[in-house]
Amino acid sequence: GFKVGIVGLPNVGKSTLFNALTRTAAAQAANFPFCTIEPNVGDVAVPDARLDRLAAIAGSKQIIPTRMTFVDIAGLVKGASKGEGLGNQFLANIRETDAIAHVLRCFEDGDVTHVEGRVNPVEDAEVIETELMIADMESIEKRLQGLSRKVRGGDKDAIQQERLMRGALAALNDGRPARTVEVADEDRRAWSMLQLLTAKPILYVCNVDERSAASGNDFSAAVADMAAAQGAAYVVISAQIEEEIAQLPADEAAEFLEEMGLEEPGLDRLIQAGYELLALETYFTVGPKEARAWTIPHGTSAPRAAGVIHGDFERGFIRAETIAYDDFVGLGGEQAAKEAGKMRAEGKSYVVKDGDVMHFLFNT
Ligand code: GDP
Repeated sequence: GFKVGIVGLPNVGKSTLFNALTRTAAAQAANFPFCTIEPNVGDVAVPDARLDRLAAIAGSKQIIPTRMTFVDIAGLVKGASKGEGLGNQFLANIRETDAIAHVLRCFEDGDVTHVEGRVNPVEDAEVIETELMIADMESIEKRLQGLSRKVRGGDKDAIQQERLMRGALAALNDGRPARTVEVADEDRRAWSMLQLLTAKPILYVCNVDERSAASGNDFSAAVADMAAAQGAAYVVISAQIEEEIAQLPADEAAEFLEEMGLEEPGLDRLIQAGYELLALETYFTVGPKEARAWTIPHGTSAPRAAGVIHGDFERGFIRAETIAYDDFVGLGGEQAAKEAGKMRAEGKSYVVKDGDVMHFLFNT
């Protein structure tokens, strides 16, 4: 599955947010009970209204959303790259994630100590980013040394790696995170194998006070400017409120949201933003037994997409029968779509599109 690491300075609301994420009814959706893999790893359902519509049309008995993993990575402080706090272990945990949700304190509260003694989310973001940049520089320098013999020996992969590392190092020395480096298509794979912390896509999460949950505040506005300048994503959320909402029954939660002037839980926006950040898409399988959502990266071929369900589907792939979401819903279901000529037979080279309703035919 896809993993988003929640990072931030101490006391910014990471644990509160993580608890909210993993306590929602959606996270604990039937059939896939919320499982704590480790105390700080949570599996959450990706909210998608399309899945409910498909299930209603097909009369599916069960609805099974697709899921995403969040990891609460505590312990990042100034000096983490030098082994301060629980430094290195946490950097290793971040390395294993696909994207970073960076929680920033955008609320004032005299009772909650700020490690830097003042509320300034933009500077906080720089503190963490600096630690991650230093960690990247150190790991690159170490690895460059290890590569030098192979490079002299003319090893093609080593030469490619060295070139990419030098490009990243130049950006880092210039004060820019590795995600600002332009990477050619043919280098994508080798680049992601470098597992640079600052190359991971980033989403800033502004944790605001209760009153600012709907509108944001001056702090979150400053973060919005920073995110825009970096081409990064951001969401405004009140972790404390989300934690309260997550524990309410659905009808009370809806009432509470309305009082707060919110259209949907901030968590839904956060999960969706994480999904978009990772360029993930969803396809559906729909039948009387169940309607289910599956996650694929943008640009996935039909056999690969089938492999998400089961390896045998990919190995024995023959073809896929596909109905676009709009056709399925607009025409009122599979049979009607088929009669209208909207069910397509697609082969191995078909690239699955977001919202496709799929049937796979395969040899066993
Ligand atoms: P972490 O160290 O980043 O995991 O932070 P925690 O989630 O443990 O939160 C630190 C403290 O800040 C706790 O006492 C929380 O109750 C409090 N806190 C978290 N979010 C908010 C918020 O939105 N408003 C206020 N006033 N306090 C919050």
